[in-house]
Amino acid sequence: MGRSGRAATRLLVQAGASVYASDVVATPELRAEVEGLRGPGVDVELGRHDVEKLGRCDVLVTSPGIPPGAAVFHAPGVRSRPLISELELAFGFLEAPIIAITGTNGKTTTSAWIGSMLERAGLRVGVGGNIGRALSELALESDRGYEWVVAEVSSFQLAQIERFNPAIGVFLNLYPDHLDWHVDVEDYYAAKARLFDNAGPDSRWVLNGEDRGVLDLAAEKPGTARYFRVASRPPAGEQGAFLDSDNVLAARYDGEQVRLVARSELKLLGAHNVANALASAIAAAFADVPVPAVREGLLGFEPLPHRLQPVAEKGGVLWVNDSKATNVASTRVALQAMDRPVVLLLGGRPKGESFAALAPDLKGRVRAVVAYGEAAAQIESELGDEVTLVREDGPFEDVVRRARALTQPGDSALLAPACASFDMFRNYEERGERFITLVGQEIS
Ligand code: ADP
Repeated sequence: MGRSGRAATRLLVQAGASVYASDVVATPELRAEVEGLRGPGVDVELGRHDVEKLGRCDVLVTSPGIPPGAAVFHAPGVRSRPLISELELAFGFLEAPIIAITGTNGKTTTSAWIGSMLERAGLRVGVGGNIGRALSELALESDRGYEWVVAEVSSFQLAQIERFNPAIGVFLNLYPDHLDWHVDVEDYYAAKARLFDNAGPDSRWVLNGEDRGVLDLAAEKPGTARYFRVASRPPAGEQGAFLDSDNVLAARYDGEQVRLVARSELKLLGAHNVANALASAIAAAFADVPVPAVREGLLGFEPLPHRLQPVAEKGGVLWVNDSKATNVASTRVALQAMDRPVVLLLGGRPKGESFAALAPDLKGRVRAVVAYGEAAAQIESELGDEVTLVREDGPFEDVVRRARALTQPGDSALLAPACASFDMFRNYEERGERFITLVGQEIS
Protein backbone atom coordinates (compact mmCIF):
# COMPACT_ATOMS: atom_id res chain seq x y z
CA MET A 1 0.00 0.00 0.00
CA GLY A 2 2.84 2.32 -0.80
CA ARG A 3 2.44 5.00 -3.35
CA SER A 4 2.07 2.73 -6.38
CA GLY A 5 -0.24 0.32 -4.53
CA ARG A 6 -2.59 3.10 -3.53
CA ALA A 7 -2.64 4.51 -7.07
CA ALA A 8 -3.24 1.02 -8.51
CA THR A 9 -6.17 0.56 -6.11
CA ARG A 10 -7.75 3.83 -7.19
CA LEU A 11 -7.24 2.99 -10.87
CA LEU A 12 -8.90 -0.41 -10.48
CA VAL A 13 -11.82 0.95 -8.49
CA GLN A 14 -12.37 3.60 -11.12
CA ALA A 15 -12.43 0.85 -13.75
CA GLY A 16 -15.17 -0.95 -11.80
CA ALA A 17 -13.14 -3.76 -10.23
CA SER A 18 -13.66 -4.84 -6.67
CA VAL A 19 -10.36 -4.70 -4.87
CA TYR A 20 -8.79 -6.37 -1.86
CA ALA A 21 -5.71 -4.30 -0.93
CA SER A 22 -3.34 -5.43 1.80
CA ASP A 23 -0.01 -4.64 3.41
CA VAL A 24 1.86 -6.27 6.29
CA VAL A 25 2.85 -2.80 7.47
CA ALA A 26 0.34 -1.15 9.81
CA THR A 27 1.95 2.08 10.99
CA PRO A 28 -0.22 5.05 11.98
CA GLU A 29 1.18 6.96 8.95
CA LEU A 30 0.07 4.21 6.55
CA ARG A 31 -3.33 4.00 8.27
CA ALA A 32 -3.81 7.69 7.61
CA GLU A 33 -2.70 7.32 3.97
CA VAL A 34 -5.16 4.51 3.15
CA GLU A 35 -8.14 6.05 4.94
CA GLY A 36 -9.34 7.85 1.80
CA LEU A 37 -9.29 4.61 -0.22
CA ARG A 38 -11.96 2.80 1.73
CA GLY A 39 -15.40 2.72 0.15
CA PRO A 40 -17.72 0.51 -1.84
CA GLY A 41 -15.83 -2.20 -3.66
CA VAL A 42 -12.57 -1.68 -1.71
CA ASP A 43 -11.51 -3.89 1.15
CA VAL A 44 -8.32 -2.51 2.74
CA GLU A 45 -6.37 -4.55 5.28
CA LEU A 46 -3.20 -3.53 7.11
CA GLY A 47 -1.01 -5.78 9.25
CA ARG A 48 -1.36 -8.97 7.17
CA HIS A 49 -2.25 -10.52 3.83
CA ASP A 50 -5.36 -12.70 3.97
CA VAL A 51 -4.33 -15.62 1.76
CA GLU A 52 -7.87 -16.88 1.56
CA LYS A 53 -9.03 -13.58 0.02
CA LEU A 54 -5.98 -13.42 -2.24
CA GLY A 55 -6.83 -16.91 -3.50
CA ARG A 56 -10.22 -15.64 -4.66
CA CYS A 57 -8.78 -12.78 -6.74
CA ASP A 58 -8.66 -12.98 -10.55
CA VAL A 59 -5.31 -11.21 -10.66
CA LEU A 60 -2.75 -10.04 -8.11
CA VAL A 61 -1.02 -6.70 -8.64
CA THR A 62 2.31 -6.78 -6.83
CA SER A 63 4.30 -4.01 -5.25
CA PRO A 64 7.88 -3.69 -6.51
CA GLY A 65 8.92 -3.95 -2.86
CA ILE A 66 7.92 -7.63 -2.57
CA PRO A 67 10.19 -10.22 -4.22
CA PRO A 68 8.32 -12.89 -6.18
CA GLY A 69 9.85 -15.46 -3.84
CA ALA A 70 7.98 -14.01 -0.85
CA ALA A 71 6.06 -16.61 1.16
CA VAL A 72 2.66 -15.02 0.54
CA PHE A 73 2.80 -15.85 -3.19
CA HIS A 74 3.52 -19.49 -2.44
CA ALA A 75 0.60 -20.09 -0.11
CA PRO A 76 -1.84 -22.74 -1.39
CA GLY A 77 -4.59 -21.03 -3.36
CA VAL A 78 -2.45 -17.96 -4.02
CA ARG A 79 0.20 -19.84 -5.99
CA SER A 80 -2.05 -20.34 -9.00
CA ARG A 81 -3.13 -16.68 -9.31
CA PRO A 82 -1.61 -14.61 -12.12
CA LEU A 83 0.82 -11.95 -10.89
CA ILE A 84 1.31 -8.64 -12.69
CA SER A 85 3.33 -5.60 -11.74
CA GLU A 86 1.87 -2.15 -11.29
CA LEU A 87 3.71 -1.24 -14.52
CA GLU A 88 1.72 -3.87 -16.45
CA LEU A 89 -1.53 -2.71 -14.86
CA ALA A 90 -0.93 0.97 -15.67
CA PHE A 91 0.16 0.11 -19.22
CA GLY A 92 -3.31 -1.26 -19.92
CA PHE A 93 -4.84 2.09 -19.02
CA LEU A 94 -2.32 4.60 -20.41
CA GLU A 95 -3.33 6.02 -23.76
CA ALA A 96 -0.10 7.84 -24.63
CA PRO A 97 2.88 6.04 -26.15
CA ILE A 98 5.54 5.20 -23.61
CA ILE A 99 9.26 5.89 -23.47
CA ALA A 100 10.64 3.32 -21.02
CA ILE A 101 14.06 3.79 -19.43
CA THR A 102 15.80 0.86 -17.83
CA GLY A 103 19.33 -0.19 -16.86
CA THR A 104 21.25 -0.57 -13.63
CA ASN A 105 22.32 3.06 -13.21
CA GLY A 106 21.17 6.43 -14.53
CA LYS A 107 17.46 5.70 -14.91
CA THR A 108 16.18 8.62 -12.84
CA THR A 109 18.53 11.15 -14.40
CA THR A 110 17.78 10.01 -17.95
CA SER A 111 14.00 9.85 -17.41
CA ALA A 112 13.95 13.42 -16.11
CA TRP A 113 16.25 14.57 -18.92
CA ILE A 114 14.08 13.06 -21.66
CA GLY A 115 10.98 14.53 -20.01
CA SER A 116 12.52 18.00 -20.02
CA MET A 117 13.40 17.75 -23.74
CA LEU A 118 9.86 16.78 -24.66
CA GLU A 119 8.48 19.61 -22.56
CA ARG A 120 10.78 22.09 -24.26
CA ALA A 121 9.35 20.90 -27.57
CA GLY A 122 5.90 21.88 -26.28
CA LEU A 123 4.66 18.32 -25.82
CA ARG A 124 2.37 17.30 -22.95
CA VAL A 125 4.38 14.70 -21.10
CA GLY A 126 3.96 12.77 -17.88
CA VAL A 127 7.09 11.43 -16.13
CA GLY A 128 6.80 8.64 -13.58
CA GLY A 129 7.46 5.02 -12.76
CA ASN A 130 9.96 3.54 -10.40
CA ILE A 131 10.30 6.67 -8.33
CA GLY A 132 8.36 9.89 -8.11
CA ARG A 133 4.86 9.46 -9.48
CA ALA A 134 3.46 5.98 -10.01
CA LEU A 135 2.39 5.17 -13.57
CA SER A 136 -1.08 4.38 -12.23
CA GLU A 137 -1.27 7.99 -11.06
CA LEU A 138 -0.52 9.15 -14.59
CA ALA A 139 -3.13 6.71 -15.89
CA LEU A 140 -5.68 8.29 -13.57
CA GLU A 141 -5.05 11.68 -15.18
CA SER A 142 -6.66 10.86 -18.51
CA ASP A 143 -7.95 14.46 -18.63
CA ARG A 144 -4.38 15.79 -18.98
CA GLY A 145 -4.15 14.53 -22.55
CA TYR A 146 -0.58 13.34 -22.31
CA GLU A 147 1.10 12.96 -25.69
CA TRP A 148 3.97 10.93 -24.18
CA VAL A 149 4.59 9.11 -20.94
CA VAL A 150 8.22 8.75 -19.81
CA ALA A 151 8.50 5.74 -17.51
CA GLU A 152 11.46 4.82 -15.32
CA VAL A 153 11.23 1.04 -15.25
CA SER A 154 12.96 -1.24 -12.75
CA SER A 155 13.78 -4.90 -13.14
CA PHE A 156 11.24 -5.65 -10.40
CA GLN A 157 8.44 -4.25 -12.52
CA LEU A 158 9.65 -5.85 -15.74
CA ALA A 159 9.78 -9.26 -14.09
CA GLN A 160 5.97 -9.34 -14.03
CA ILE A 161 4.69 -8.06 -17.33
CA GLU A 162 2.53 -9.64 -20.02
CA ARG A 163 1.74 -7.07 -22.66
CA PHE A 164 3.91 -4.10 -21.65
CA ASN A 165 5.31 -2.67 -24.87
CA PRO A 166 7.01 0.74 -24.95
CA ALA A 167 7.06 2.72 -28.19
CA ILE A 168 10.65 3.68 -27.37
CA GLY A 169 12.85 1.65 -25.00
CA VAL A 170 16.11 3.00 -23.56
CA PHE A 171 18.57 0.47 -22.13
CA LEU A 172 21.39 2.31 -20.36
CA ASN A 173 23.72 -0.34 -18.93
CA LEU A 174 23.78 -3.64 -17.12
CA TYR A 175 25.77 -4.51 -13.98
CA PRO A 176 25.05 -7.12 -11.31
CA ASP A 177 22.75 -5.47 -8.76
CA HIS A 178 19.71 -6.07 -6.58
CA LEU A 179 20.78 -9.55 -5.65
CA ASP A 180 18.67 -9.17 -2.51
CA TRP A 181 15.52 -9.26 -4.70
CA HIS A 182 16.40 -11.52 -7.61
CA VAL A 183 17.37 -15.16 -7.08
CA ASP A 184 20.68 -14.68 -8.95
CA VAL A 185 22.36 -12.57 -11.66
CA GLU A 186 20.74 -14.59 -14.47
CA ASP A 187 17.32 -13.89 -12.96
CA TYR A 188 18.11 -10.13 -12.83
CA TYR A 189 19.33 -10.10 -16.45
CA ALA A 190 16.32 -12.17 -17.54
CA ALA A 191 13.97 -9.63 -15.95
CA LYS A 192 15.70 -6.75 -17.75
CA ALA A 193 15.50 -8.67 -21.04
CA ARG A 194 11.72 -8.63 -20.77
CA LEU A 195 11.81 -5.02 -21.98
CA PHE A 196 11.93 -6.61 -25.45
CA ASP A 197 9.22 -9.26 -24.89
CA ASN A 198 6.53 -7.57 -26.95
CA ALA A 199 8.77 -5.84 -29.48
CA GLY A 200 7.43 -5.38 -32.99
CA PRO A 201 8.59 -3.80 -36.24
CA ASP A 202 7.61 -0.31 -35.00
CA SER A 203 9.59 -0.58 -31.75
CA ARG A 204 12.44 1.88 -31.35
CA TRP A 205 15.43 1.15 -29.14
CA VAL A 206 18.12 3.33 -27.64
CA LEU A 207 21.02 1.08 -26.68
CA ASN A 208 24.41 1.43 -25.06
CA GLY A 209 26.72 0.53 -27.95
CA GLU A 210 29.57 -0.05 -25.49
CA ASP A 211 27.84 -2.46 -23.11
CA ARG A 212 28.17 -6.09 -24.19
CA GLY A 213 25.43 -7.20 -21.77
CA VAL A 214 22.91 -4.74 -23.20
CA LEU A 215 23.82 -5.62 -26.80
CA ASP A 216 23.46 -9.34 -26.12
CA LEU A 217 20.00 -8.92 -24.61
CA ALA A 218 18.89 -6.72 -27.51
CA ALA A 219 20.34 -8.88 -30.28
CA GLU A 220 17.91 -9.93 -33.04
CA LYS A 221 14.96 -8.08 -31.50
CA PRO A 222 12.46 -6.55 -33.95
CA GLY A 223 12.41 -2.77 -34.43
CA THR A 224 14.91 0.03 -35.10
CA ALA A 225 17.94 0.49 -32.86
CA ARG A 226 20.14 3.54 -32.37
CA TYR A 227 23.24 3.44 -30.21
CA PHE A 228 25.08 5.82 -27.88
CA ARG A 229 28.84 5.75 -27.34
CA VAL A 230 31.09 7.81 -25.07
CA ALA A 231 34.51 6.18 -25.40
CA SER A 232 34.44 4.99 -29.02
CA ARG A 233 33.40 6.19 -32.46
CA PRO A 234 30.46 4.52 -34.20
CA PRO A 235 31.28 2.06 -36.97
CA ALA A 236 30.25 3.12 -40.48
CA GLY A 237 26.52 2.92 -40.98
CA GLU A 238 25.57 2.89 -37.30
CA GLN A 239 22.82 5.32 -36.31
CA GLY A 240 23.06 7.08 -33.00
CA ALA A 241 24.85 9.68 -30.91
CA PHE A 242 28.40 9.82 -29.64
CA LEU A 243 31.14 11.97 -28.16
CA ASP A 244 33.20 13.33 -31.03
CA SER A 245 37.00 13.53 -30.82
CA ASP A 246 36.87 17.26 -30.02
CA ASN A 247 34.57 16.62 -27.04
CA VAL A 248 31.40 17.54 -28.86
CA LEU A 249 28.18 15.56 -28.48
CA ALA A 250 27.09 14.68 -31.99
CA ALA A 251 24.28 12.67 -33.57
CA ARG A 252 24.26 10.73 -36.81
CA TYR A 253 20.93 9.51 -38.09
CA ASP A 254 20.47 8.52 -41.73
CA GLY A 255 24.06 9.38 -42.61
CA GLU A 256 23.88 13.07 -41.71
CA GLN A 257 26.01 14.21 -38.75
CA VAL A 258 24.62 16.95 -36.49
CA ARG A 259 26.56 18.83 -33.80
CA LEU A 260 24.53 18.95 -30.60
CA VAL A 261 26.53 20.71 -27.83
CA ALA A 262 30.05 20.77 -26.40
CA ARG A 263 30.61 18.49 -23.45
CA SER A 264 31.83 21.48 -21.40
CA GLU A 265 28.41 23.11 -21.84
CA LEU A 266 26.59 20.34 -19.91
CA LYS A 267 25.79 21.21 -16.29
CA LEU A 268 26.18 17.57 -15.22
CA LEU A 269 29.62 16.19 -14.48
CA GLY A 270 31.20 12.95 -15.58
CA ALA A 271 31.37 10.59 -18.54
CA HIS A 272 28.36 8.67 -17.19
CA ASN A 273 26.27 11.80 -17.61
CA VAL A 274 27.54 12.21 -21.18
CA ALA A 275 26.09 8.72 -21.73
CA ASN A 276 22.80 9.78 -20.14
CA ALA A 277 22.77 12.95 -22.29
CA LEU A 278 23.37 11.03 -25.53
CA ALA A 279 20.71 8.45 -24.68
CA SER A 280 18.25 11.25 -23.91
CA ALA A 281 19.02 13.03 -27.18
CA ILE A 282 18.37 9.87 -29.21
CA ALA A 283 15.12 9.11 -27.39
CA ALA A 284 13.89 12.66 -27.94
CA ALA A 285 14.79 12.46 -31.64
CA PHE A 286 12.84 9.21 -31.91
CA ALA A 287 9.87 11.10 -30.44
CA ASP A 288 10.27 13.71 -33.20
CA VAL A 289 11.64 16.44 -30.94
CA PRO A 290 13.44 18.89 -33.25
CA VAL A 291 17.20 19.41 -32.84
CA PRO A 292 16.96 22.93 -31.31
CA ALA A 293 14.76 21.63 -28.47
CA VAL A 294 17.14 18.70 -27.93
CA ARG A 295 20.03 21.19 -27.70
CA GLU A 296 18.14 23.39 -25.25
CA GLY A 297 17.31 20.34 -23.18
CA LEU A 298 20.95 19.27 -23.10
CA LEU A 299 22.13 22.75 -22.07
CA GLY A 300 19.38 23.61 -19.61
CA PHE A 301 19.14 20.43 -17.55
CA GLU A 302 20.35 20.82 -13.96
CA PRO A 303 21.79 17.99 -11.84
CA LEU A 304 19.13 16.26 -9.74
CA PRO A 305 19.52 16.70 -5.98
CA HIS A 306 22.11 14.43 -4.29
CA ARG A 307 23.58 13.20 -7.60
CA LEU A 308 26.92 14.91 -8.20
CA GLN A 309 25.16 18.13 -7.33
CA PRO A 310 27.47 21.16 -7.16
CA VAL A 311 26.46 22.95 -3.95
CA ALA A 312 28.74 25.97 -3.66
CA GLU A 313 32.09 27.34 -4.73
CA LYS A 314 34.03 29.41 -2.23
CA GLY A 315 37.70 30.22 -1.87
CA GLY A 316 38.35 28.24 -5.03
CA VAL A 317 36.85 25.07 -3.54
CA LEU A 318 33.90 23.40 -5.27
CA TRP A 319 31.61 21.48 -2.86
CA VAL A 320 29.73 18.56 -4.44
CA ASN A 321 26.88 16.54 -2.94
CA ASP A 322 26.65 12.95 -4.24
CA SER A 323 24.84 11.54 -1.22
CA LYS A 324 23.05 9.10 -3.58
CA ALA A 325 26.42 7.32 -4.02
CA THR A 326 25.58 4.63 -1.48
CA ASN A 327 27.83 1.91 -2.88
CA VAL A 328 31.43 1.56 -4.04
CA ALA A 329 30.52 1.48 -7.75
CA SER A 330 28.77 4.85 -7.68
CA THR A 331 31.56 6.45 -5.64
CA ARG A 332 34.01 5.29 -8.32
CA VAL A 333 31.85 6.89 -11.02
CA ALA A 334 31.80 10.12 -9.00
CA LEU A 335 35.58 10.17 -8.56
CA GLN A 336 36.10 9.57 -12.25
CA ALA A 337 33.93 12.61 -12.95
CA MET A 338 36.19 14.98 -10.96
CA ASP A 339 38.73 17.07 -12.81
CA ARG A 340 40.26 18.73 -9.70
CA PRO A 341 42.08 17.35 -6.66
CA VAL A 342 39.46 15.89 -4.33
CA VAL A 343 38.92 15.80 -0.59
CA LEU A 344 36.56 12.84 -0.27
CA LEU A 345 34.05 12.38 2.56
CA LEU A 346 33.72 8.61 2.82
CA GLY A 347 31.71 6.72 5.43
CA GLY A 348 28.39 5.95 7.05
CA ARG A 349 26.91 2.51 7.60
CA PRO A 350 28.91 -0.07 5.60
CA LYS A 351 26.99 -2.43 3.30
CA GLY A 352 29.39 -5.36 3.41
CA GLU A 353 31.45 -4.22 0.42
CA SER A 354 35.23 -3.81 0.52
CA PHE A 355 36.48 -0.24 0.05
CA ALA A 356 39.76 -1.51 -1.38
CA ALA A 357 38.24 -1.36 -4.90
CA LEU A 358 38.35 2.43 -4.62
CA ALA A 359 42.15 2.55 -4.47
CA PRO A 360 42.84 2.90 -8.23
CA ASP A 361 40.41 5.82 -8.48
CA LEU A 362 41.80 7.55 -5.38
CA LYS A 363 45.44 7.52 -6.49
CA GLY A 364 46.48 10.73 -8.23
CA ARG A 365 43.04 12.22 -7.72
CA VAL A 366 42.45 12.52 -4.03
CA ARG A 367 44.25 14.93 -1.76
CA ALA A 368 42.79 13.26 1.33
CA VAL A 369 40.00 11.00 2.49
CA VAL A 370 37.97 11.85 5.58
CA ALA A 371 36.73 8.48 6.93
CA TYR A 372 33.74 8.77 9.24
CA GLY A 373 30.75 6.99 10.73
CA GLU A 374 30.39 3.28 11.45
CA ALA A 375 32.58 2.44 8.45
CA ALA A 376 35.53 4.59 9.60
CA ALA A 377 37.65 1.78 11.05
CA GLN A 378 37.08 -0.49 8.04
CA ILE A 379 37.92 2.31 5.60
CA GLU A 380 41.05 3.15 7.57
CA SER A 381 42.27 -0.43 7.53
CA GLU A 382 41.49 -0.98 3.82
CA LEU A 383 42.68 2.35 2.40
CA GLY A 384 44.98 3.82 5.07
CA ASP A 385 48.11 2.62 3.27
CA GLU A 386 46.91 3.83 -0.13
CA VAL A 387 46.10 7.51 0.42
CA THR A 388 46.30 10.31 2.96
CA LEU A 389 43.48 9.41 5.29
CA VAL A 390 42.07 11.25 8.27
CA ARG A 391 39.66 9.52 10.59
CA GLU A 392 36.89 11.66 12.10
CA ASP A 393 34.79 9.95 14.74
CA GLY A 394 32.79 13.04 15.70
CA PRO A 395 29.36 14.10 14.43
CA PHE A 396 28.76 15.01 10.80
CA GLU A 397 29.51 18.72 11.35
CA ASP A 398 33.02 17.74 12.45
CA VAL A 399 33.36 15.66 9.27
CA VAL A 400 32.51 18.64 7.06
CA ARG A 401 34.75 20.95 9.14
CA ARG A 402 37.62 18.50 8.82
CA ALA A 403 37.12 18.34 5.04
CA ARG A 404 37.23 22.10 4.79
CA ALA A 405 40.50 22.26 6.73
CA LEU A 406 42.07 19.80 4.27
CA THR A 407 41.04 21.58 1.05
CA GLN A 408 43.21 23.96 -0.93
CA PRO A 409 42.14 26.49 -3.57
CA GLY A 410 41.39 24.65 -6.81
CA ASP A 411 40.15 21.51 -5.03
CA SER A 412 36.73 19.98 -4.81
CA ALA A 413 35.23 18.55 -1.63
CA LEU A 414 33.07 15.57 -2.54
CA LEU A 415 30.48 13.78 -0.42
CA ALA A 416 30.29 10.37 -2.16
CA PRO A 417 30.18 8.13 0.89
CA ALA A 418 29.87 4.61 -0.64
CA CYS A 419 27.77 3.69 2.41
CA ALA A 420 24.23 3.83 3.65
CA SER A 421 23.35 6.84 5.78
CA PHE A 422 21.38 5.15 8.54
CA ASP A 423 24.04 5.45 11.25
CA MET A 424 23.50 9.22 11.33
CA PHE A 425 20.48 10.04 9.15
CA ARG A 426 17.05 8.80 8.15
CA ASN A 427 18.06 8.44 4.49
CA TYR A 428 20.45 9.68 1.83
CA GLU A 429 18.30 12.73 1.17
CA GLU A 430 18.60 13.91 4.77
CA ARG A 431 22.37 13.34 4.65
CA GLY A 432 22.62 15.44 1.47
CA GLU A 433 20.45 18.23 2.90
CA ARG A 434 22.54 18.37 6.06
CA PHE A 435 25.71 18.50 3.97
CA ILE A 436 24.35 21.46 2.00
CA THR A 437 23.43 23.30 5.21
CA LEU A 438 26.80 22.65 6.86
CA VAL A 439 28.71 23.69 3.74
CA GLY A 440 26.77 26.96 3.79
CA GLN A 441 27.78 27.55 7.41
CA GLU A 442 31.41 26.53 6.90
CA ILE A 443 32.08 28.80 3.96
CA SER A 444 30.00 31.83 4.91
P1 ADP B 1 19.04 5.14 -10.94
O1 ADP B 1 17.70 5.77 -11.00
O2 ADP B 1 19.21 4.09 -12.03
O3 ADP B 1 19.47 4.68 -9.58
P2 ADP B 1 20.31 7.79 -10.93
O4 ADP B 1 20.08 8.66 -12.13
O5 ADP B 1 19.55 8.08 -9.69
O6 ADP B 1 20.10 6.27 -11.39
O7 ADP B 1 21.88 7.78 -10.61
C1 ADP B 1 22.34 7.05 -9.49
C2 ADP B 1 23.87 6.94 -9.50
O8 ADP B 1 24.27 6.06 -10.54
C3 ADP B 1 24.59 8.25 -9.81
O9 ADP B 1 24.89 8.98 -8.64
C4 ADP B 1 25.85 7.79 -10.49
O10 ADP B 1 26.82 7.47 -9.51
C5 ADP B 1 25.47 6.51 -11.18
N1 ADP B 1 25.15 6.68 -12.63
C6 ADP B 1 24.25 7.53 -13.19
N2 ADP B 1 24.21 7.38 -14.51
C7 ADP B 1 25.08 6.39 -14.82
C8 ADP B 1 25.48 5.75 -16.05
N3 ADP B 1 24.94 6.09 -17.22
N4 ADP B 1 26.42 4.78 -15.96
C9 ADP B 1 26.96 4.41 -14.79
N5 ADP B 1 26.64 4.97 -13.60
C10 ADP B 1 25.71 5.95 -13.60
